[in-house]
Amino acid sequence: MDSYGRAFTYLRVSVTDLCNLRCVYCMPEEGMKWMPRDEILSFEEIVTVIEAAAACGVYKIRLTGGEPLVRSDIAVLTRMVARVPGITDLALTTNGTRLAELANDLASAGLRRINISLDTMDPVKFKAIARRHELHEVLEGIQAAHAAGLRPVKINMVVLGGLNDEEVADFAAMTLDQAIDVRFIEYMPLEEAKGCAMGSGNFSFVPNQISKERIAARFGELEPLEVGDGMQGPAEVFQIQGAAGRLGFISAMSAPFCKLCDRLRLTASGELRSCLLDGGGLSLKPLLRNGGSRQD
Ligand code: SAM
Ligand code: SF4
Repeated sequence: MDSYGRAFTYLRVSVTDLCNLRCVYCMPEEGMKWMPRDEILSFEEIVTVIEAAAACGVYKIRLTGGEPLVRSDIAVLTRMVARVPGITDLALTTNGTRLAELANDLASAGLRRINISLDTMDPVKFKAIARRHELHEVLEGIQAAHAAGLRPVKINMVVLGGLNDEEVADFAAMTLDQAIDVRFIEYMPLEEAKGCAMGSGNFSFVPNQISKERIAARFGELEPLEVGDGMQGPAEVFQIQGAAGRLGFISAMSAPFCKLCDRLRLTASGELRSCLLDGGGLSLKPLLRNGGSRQD
């Protein structure tokens, strides 16, 4: 529990800083400098931190990155995490490009739910936004996740003015017949994204209110939902009347939700952070590599 009375029950674990895409809002197209391999926590070190966190009340883990599915043997780590006593909710966020080949292994290793990032359904725009790989790989990954029984499948779309903002209603339409949740994420000017994004004139900021209005203009007024099952997090949740899936709006910039934030983050190099924007962190590597106990 922190000094604002927020109980931390959710730990996001970055398993690698590497990625096979270069999304315009996240990384520069060329010249990424990756961490030396021995700086990255081993599977055993990650699991030690998760065991210690679980002993303090964390029950939800999300594996993320960089791109978690480019780390070798990610299904092995998934199985190790799924077995940690007290971890009852295990999820993963991926760009989907390797999901078609890995979805079954991940599901049998104990993964339950998955978030797949997809910002456009136009193959040409995909090249402009993600700059590597192909749209069809991600679409096949989404189908594979469904077929492997991962539920719910959530699609994350970062809304970028002038690049994909005209597709928000098309994305919302995915929820009509399929039990897919689509979440619209406002672009955040993160430290990591510096120099590769809005400043370069590639796109503009779109507040979620605009996306909501565009969707309502096509499908009628959206029904607000109270959800207590993990769709919520910081998202405001709505549904198109009669739709099978739901719509989430994550408005970190236009309606900050800091007071509701209950997540801790473990970076790939072993820093424990409570907030991505405050710049502070606690390096756990010295403890992990110098014989510290779980209690430490
Ligand atoms: N590589 C995986 C992926 O793209 O899903 C996992 C890591 S990625 C950093 C996690 C999520 O953060 C993705 O949904 C991505 O779209 C989102 N994201 C990355 N940079 C962002 C930014 N500057 N503003 C808002 N969302 C961002
Ligand atoms: Fe890679 Fe995810 Fe960042 Fe895109 S958002 S560059 S897929 S880490």
